[in-house]
Amino acid sequence: MQIFRTATCVDSNHPEFTLVFKDEPSTPNTVGWILDHFQNAVAEGTRFVPGQTVGIGWRALRIIERDDRTLGLEERVAEGIWEEHVDQALSDVWLQVEAAAKLGLPEEPDSVAEDDIAAAQVCAFEASTLSLNRLGPDSPQHGVWAISCGDEHDHSEWSAMELFQLSASLPFVTQFLALPPETGLVIDRRWVRSTGGVVAGVAYQGTMLTPDDGIHFGPEPASIGPLPTAHFAILQFGEGLYRTTIGDQHGHPDIVARVTEPAVPGTQESLVQWILDDLQDSLAAGTRFAPGQTIRVGGRTLRVVERSDGMLGLLERVDTDSWEEHVEQTLRDLWYQKEVAASLGLAQQLDFPADDQYAAVAECVNETIPALLLNRGDTSDPDSSGWMVCCLRNHDHGEWSMRTIWDLSDSMPFTTQFLALPVNTSVAIEAPHTTPTGRIGVRALLNGWHLIPAPGSYLSALNASH
Ligand SMILES: [Zn+2]
Ligand SMILES: [Zn+2]
Repeated sequence: MQIFRTATCVDSNHPEFTLVFKDEPSTPNTVGWILDHFQNAVAEGTRFVPGQTVGIGWRALRIIERDDRTLGLEERVAEGIWEEHVDQALSDVWLQVEAAAKLGLPEEPDSVAEDDIAAAQVCAFEASTLSLNRLGPDSPQHGVWAISCGDEHDHSEWSAMELFQLSASLPFVTQFLALPPETGLVIDRRWVRSTGGVVAGVAYQGTMLTPDDGIHFGPEPASIGPLPTAHFAILQFGEGLYRTTIGDQHGHPDIVARVTEPAVPGTQESLVQWILDDLQDSLAAGTRFAPGQTIRVGGRTLRVVERSDGMLGLLERVDTDSWEEHVEQTLRDLWYQKEVAASLGLAQQLDFPADDQYAAVAECVNETIPALLLNRGDTSDPDSSGWMVCCLRNHDHGEWSMRTIWDLSDSMPFTTQFLALPVNTSVAIEAPHTTPTGRIGVRALLNGWHLIPAPGSYLSALNASH
């Protein structure tokens, strides 16, 4: 879940809008587009009230009042069923604009509405080939979509239905509904993909715009990623001692992960798996590990050593030049970084900086300042993490110096949990010594837009404790 909020409606004495995405938005720029849309309307004097509907492309979204006193938006997911999110409306607009652009036809997603009436031959819904025609000015029903059956048989009657109903029965046609009058499409049902992608032949004003056998529209089938690995068993063989189990089989010493204190409350074993599963999969694939070698886990580095029992152990860095045989600090960093990203709907975009990469830190930053701003920019410098750290004041932040991620984490440990957030994220953090609870306060932005932690998430609990 990803939740964005407008920031400037309050200037017009109007509640802000909170937009919920059920899934990560497929196209990040549509987020800015819709937030801008509301902010601009409010700035120009439009007032929105709960219960009102607003059009986003062909969809009518319903405004609701949220518990946090901002305005939310619901979309219709089935006849009579509304849910608070905007995924479908935005993805429809996006696909409709794309389909028009692909055909060189005008991009007019507002030219239809979900309660517009379409005419359909009932047998078309089961047909192996169907035709869609948007009637032109010669027809008394100018602008109406007609859906006819392409099979050779005695066709059933024509009936009228809302476009919403048509789209619910044949989701793959939705992307074509904003094409202009005098557009005709032929769709072979065999080429409809579960993603909503489809091959269609398209004509406009009687001229074919595509080859007769059509071109592809809509989402491409997802590429098949690596198959999930069935991990091998991990064995606990003592207090806080866990090891791989397939060493013998591969003529390689087993690898031990040692935990001397709980990384976070909860089961240690499942956390230790984050490290040992990967190592064990590598062993199974024939990789060899040798004492002295280093391994990256998330943002940290582990060092392989030989243990007195003949197995290999893992050291983590506890100080600039000091290493000890345990992994709890690595697991703790990983756990918090994953929780923070998941809170903001960014779990799929974790981007761990290495502990020896640099962050640019402004002169005004020290351990005592009340609030920090972390900004991650795009960088092509392999030595840079992209992070820039300054204070929250509006002033000249002074000279910028390069400090390693290790050093930054070490001097301000509460920043570590944010450092795996992706490029274009900003985080404003109230330092723990300035908050009444002694816990940090956090505000996050993605591409400049406020990102609200999902309800019940780690960050939402952190902010609520103020
Ligand atoms: Zn038919
Ligand atoms: Zn400053």
